[in-house]
Amino acid sequence: MRCNASCAFCDYWKTSPEMKAKELTSFADAARAFDPMLITWTGGEPLLRKDLEELVNAVDRAISTKWTTLITHGGMLSLERARSLWDAGVGQFSISLDYLDERHDKARGIPGLSKKILANAEAIRGAGMTVRFNTVIKDDNLDDVMPLVRAAAAMRVGVNLSVYTDFKNGNRDHLLGAAHQQRLEELVRELLAFKKQRRGTLSNSDYYLESIPKYVRGEMKEPCRSGQETVHIDPYGGIRRCPDFPVDGHWKDYAGYAPIKCDRCFYACRGEAQAPLRVDRFLDLVASP
Ligand code: SF4
Ligand code: SF4
Repeated sequence: MRCNASCAFCDYWKTSPEMKAKELTSFADAARAFDPMLITWTGGEPLLRKDLEELVNAVDRAISTKWTTLITHGGMLSLERARSLWDAGVGQFSISLDYLDERHDKARGIPGLSKKILANAEAIRGAGMTVRFNTVIKDDNLDDVMPLVRAAAAMRVGVNLSVYTDFKNGNRDHLLGAAHQQRLEELVRELLAFKKQRRGTLSNSDYYLESIPKYVRGEMKEPCRSGQETVHIDPYGGIRRCPDFPVDGHWKDYAGYAPIKCDRCFYACRGEAQAPLRVDRFLDLVASP
């Protein structure tokens, strides 16, 4: 929950450094208890943990069948660090990238970040590791998404899209609304057409992409499966149904969550959990960038 970026739409970088002393030094017991198929190491900025390789490797050894991803802003990711995390058990690097140019550096408060990400992503991919860009669709990057997807495809890097939400700290600056609806629908058509020609770059399901305009119109009625399909464990051992909800107690006291009617976000992790397993989804899952 600590971060060295300074995004205006997230408060993790304001976490007191004193909280470091309260962070768990192993998540292996939690991994054994939940025995998940998918583990995502996220933040804040996980690479701030000098013991990240040990944390990853202990969880990797604790359970047998899993897919491990790591979400990072990429500012501290080098080819060498990627290799050591890969050897520890990371199976995919998900690097946040919302714009191809310096607008991304400005949004994160890290000079030179977008250039660094593009160079490192290519190098890490070239060394045989799996890389995706995690791209958030916002009010001001609708025209940037397709160029970003094409740039990723040229590097054989994947892209996973999510929709901006103000739930992190109430910042409504980048929310999509009625004014963006037409361009958003065009973008979804472009993305679906791209997927038909080149499956594997975009890891979003057709269902997720098709549902984005519906979500922005406030028409998503399906209950969210957070807390049932997925749980979030914070650095201190607290459990939440999703990263943006309050902690409900220690993970050891988890007794399941009831379904919830919540529409506060349409991140890919929420939307994909409710995507039906259609033929196109199966084809997505077996394709690579
Ligand atoms: S959005 Fe990510 S990079 Fe930005 S402050 Fe929050 S955790 Fe850090
Ligand atoms: S929709 Fe689901 S994942 Fe999103 S904020 Fe609500 S409970 Fe959390």
